[in-house]
Amino acid sequence: MIFAPPLAGGVCCFKDRFAGKVCLGMTQAVLPTYNRTAFSIESGKGAWVTASDGRTLLDFGAGIAVNSLGHCHPHLVETLKSQAEKLWHTSNLYRIPDGERFAERLCAATFADTVFFTNSGAEALECSIKMARKYHAASGHPEKFRLITFEGAFHGRTLATIAAGGQQKYIDGFGPAVEGFDQVPFADHEAIEKAIGPETAGILIEPVQGEGGIRPVPAKCLKGLRELCDRHGILLVFDEVQCGMGRTGKLFAHQHSAITPDIMASAKGIGGGYPLGACLATAEAARGMVAGSHGSTYGGNPMAMAIGNAVLDVILEDGFLDHVSQMSLLLTQKLAGLADEFPDIVGGARGKGLMIGVQCKVVNTDMQAACVASDLLVVAAGDNVIRLLPPLNITAEEVSEAVSRIEAACRKLRSSSASN
Ligand SMILES: *Cc1c(COP(=O)(O)O)cnc(C)c1O
Repeated sequence: MIFAPPLAGGVCCFKDRFAGKVCLGMTQAVLPTYNRTAFSIESGKGAWVTASDGRTLLDFGAGIAVNSLGHCHPHLVETLKSQAEKLWHTSNLYRIPDGERFAERLCAATFADTVFFTNSGAEALECSIKMARKYHAASGHPEKFRLITFEGAFHGRTLATIAAGGQQKYIDGFGPAVEGFDQVPFADHEAIEKAIGPETAGILIEPVQGEGGIRPVPAKCLKGLRELCDRHGILLVFDEVQCGMGRTGKLFAHQHSAITPDIMASAKGIGGGYPLGACLATAEAARGMVAGSHGSTYGGNPMAMAIGNAVLDVILEDGFLDHVSQMSLLLTQKLAGLADEFPDIVGGARGKGLMIGVQCKVVNTDMQAACVASDLLVVAAGDNVIRLLPPLNITAEEVSEAVSRIEAACRKLRSSSASN
């Protein structure tokens, strides 16, 4: 079926595409919930991608913090190929040895005693939210089901996670928001304490806000939240979907602080490009989750588990996380130089590890477009920021090249504003 009229700027061009020409517009067969670039990405190797318009671009978006080891990492390709010839999917009706091994390795490297595997970040959050509620129900307090969340948060696009994120533009038009989320201003300790009531089950927070504009929560605030939770007998739930799996230079971002959560959602980088998420928890926090209380058809299937283990093999290698910290230092130093040179275009950089936000003095989506025009992929975020989220195994040369390309983008923006 053909939808008419065509989308703004979009002409359907199946013929052109099949003739190998550059596509002028988007097919309407894909639900238009994204503003996409005119080009597609046809192949990738490490931090580099080749686009359908023939360009080679440096990828500092990494599929939004997903391609943690870059594109087509040999160990992941090898693992996927050999698993593809052995077994793809079975069902959670049967034991899955690679999943047991992966869960044990994640537990050994974190606060957790137990893991539930999912296919996405939002599902990892759904499991976390359900688990926090069920913990209190199993403790004789089913009335405790509310979670305190933060302005600028992003937890996914399911009905519960849009309610948790609290962004009106994601909630509007989808019926009554799922009950049970009380949002407070970012980093307002007093407001958090005030929001705790007899129905509060826990506090849900990203240790480094991603979509909200790369806003790290200071270690002392995380400690304050831990103390608050302990004092009130409620659970601390971290969303490390974006900031976890080595992104900040520790396996998980909260490991920069001295405290641990009760429940944590992981996804994005955990699968290195394969759809995979996880909900990690202490045995205590998970005690309400028994056979039958939660499930997923695909979650933790043999293919995903083989790849998850392979990603972990690389991230846990000696020196890998130190490399992330070294590249972070190099990148932030170079960005500081750029802020000095173009004070009218870029401000300070913030973030942790290779999760860096650059405050823009121009509209961030213009900055993003100028970077893409300079053959560098970056991702816009809230608070007028562009995010730099390169593969974690990025080299020093690639960091320098990326900053040169941002510099080129800044020059273009300066000359275009001068000519206006
Ligand atoms: C991306 C993201 C999610 C949602 O993950 P999906 O895989 O898109 O469902 C949740 N929380 C945070 C912090 C994220 O960055």
